[in-house]
Amino acid sequence: MTIQRLEARTADVGGIPIARLLPNKGKQPIGAWCFLDHAGPSVFGEHDDGMQVGRHPHTNLQTFTWMLDGEVKHQDSLGNEQVIRKNQVNLMTAGTGSEQGISHTEQSVFADTGGSADAERMLHAVQLWIALPMNQQIERSFYHYPDLPTWTDNGVTYTLTTGSYTDSQGTTHTAPTLQYSPLVGMDVHFLQSSEVTLNLKSNFDYGILVIAGTLHVDGMVFEQDELARIDANNSDHILIRAKAGTRFMFIGAEPLPHPVLLWWNFVDSTKAGIEQSIADWNAHHPRFGDVDVDMKRLIAPPLPEGFKAD
Ligand code: MN
Repeated sequence: MTIQRLEARTADVGGIPIARLLPNKGKQPIGAWCFLDHAGPSVFGEHDDGMQVGRHPHTNLQTFTWMLDGEVKHQDSLGNEQVIRKNQVNLMTAGTGSEQGISHTEQSVFADTGGSADAERMLHAVQLWIALPMNQQIERSFYHYPDLPTWTDNGVTYTLTTGSYTDSQGTTHTAPTLQYSPLVGMDVHFLQSSEVTLNLKSNFDYGILVIAGTLHVDGMVFEQDELARIDANNSDHILIRAKAGTRFMFIGAEPLPHPVLLWWNFVDSTKAGIEQSIADWNAHHPRFGDVDVDMKRLIAPPLPEGFKAD
């Protein structure tokens, strides 16, 4: 087994400081998981609007939001409007190819702005992108998953956010989340100090994002906002030790059979595809539709000189 440490860089998304773990210079994505932000926990004052992300597009990817605390309203060009609350997943699929694409907005909501009566004035979330297999013809869609498989074993609570996972008792859990290539995503929360065994598949790449606390993995120590990139080789499991309160996100996926390029809010297998998406979005091409909301429309920046296509 080989374990690499990936460190975060900080960025700003809609006014919120975030720790960005993927993409990570010189490092491969975790299979199809190609983008990973840990947002917050950020607490907002009484006159603070929280996160406000204006109208922007996506291509050839799924946005996957795992909400830890606070509430966010999503609105998209398919006409969906959905508030996501803690322990829920939102999954938006942009579709594949130059005829597909989607656009959306995301904003914090509170008790007085469309959230629940007991919505916290805060944001804590993990936002990921899943690159779509571009050899499949995939249509745009949006799904909200309020109920996910969850179980507690030896003082540790597991919530399966996507894919299938066989627990230490031999029970296989399956999340309802739509997938186009094999993936797993699981939240693991230590209610007491414990040691857990995570089962690994030989054809997957894996990563562990520390959301809170400290993890001991195979002789290495990982702190909050670090990502362990795990190459299982022939190991079928990994042991993780942590104290009460520690929480992490376990992700795994098969690599896609083509390059995965990222620029701004676009994923593609070629540089030409990204250039087309930039031009189309900035020209208001109908492939991206429009979101019926009074929020700023973001502009796609041009590809930098020397953008590498591999
Ligand atoms: Mn987005």
